[in-house]
Amino acid sequence: MQHYTIGFGSPRTAVIGCQHGDELIGRDIIERLVTVRPDKGTLDLIIANEEAIDVRTRFLDSDLNRIFPGNSTGNREEQIAADLTHRLKPFDYVIDVHSTTACTQSFVVITGLDEQAKQLASLVPLPKVVYMEPQIAQGRSLIDHANAGISIEFDERTSPNHGYNVVLGALKAMGMYHGTVSAVMQEFYSVYGVLRESVSQPLVNFKLTALGDNTFYPVFFGEKAYAFTCMMAKKI
Ligand SMILES: [Zn+2]
Repeated sequence: MQHYTIGFGSPRTAVIGCQHGDELIGRDIIERLVTVRPDKGTLDLIIANEEAIDVRTRFLDSDLNRIFPGNSTGNREEQIAADLTHRLKPFDYVIDVHSTTACTQSFVVITGLDEQAKQLASLVPLPKVVYMEPQIAQGRSLIDHANAGISIEFDERTSPNHGYNVVLGALKAMGMYHGTVSAVMQEFYSVYGVLRESVSQPLVNFKLTALGDNTFYPVFFGEKAYAFTCMMAKKI
């Protein structure tokens, strides 16, 4: 694990990258952020799963973002999760960076609908926010174990510079860096289930779809890491 701390005082915000070793945008964003000291507050930058990065794989023993709070005597990822759970305690805010192989607009993920989570999501200059209902997230993701946390899922074609500007935009909106961020109107979606059946034609993420008895917004259609077809969401 690589962990940098820059700046001092509050707020204390952590940006986590590469929980999944084949999602390198997190590391690319952190390599840019580490060069710009915050005007206010403390920024911690953590590259989580270096061994998985070395072999460009999502994980080695267990999917890290499904096993929180981890186990300090468990397998490689269980130990990383336990270490991260401990490190995350002092932070006011956690931004966890991912990328997806799905052809999709980049979006923000939250696992709670409390005001803190919604407020943090609103600071990210992206137009879509996806709430994972408890039966989906099951309390085992990193952000479930942060005081206030969000994940960002970047379309994997996103350039490192654009990803950096999105995360920096959120940090500016928190007041940690000077500069203006243009406000983005956001739509909220709630993921309530997964579609397991295969489909005869590609679905379009975030486009209202009628399929048999179901009408839903597909999320993560085309994500290669998932064994199911896509997640099903409604607008909220
Ligand atoms: Zn990921």
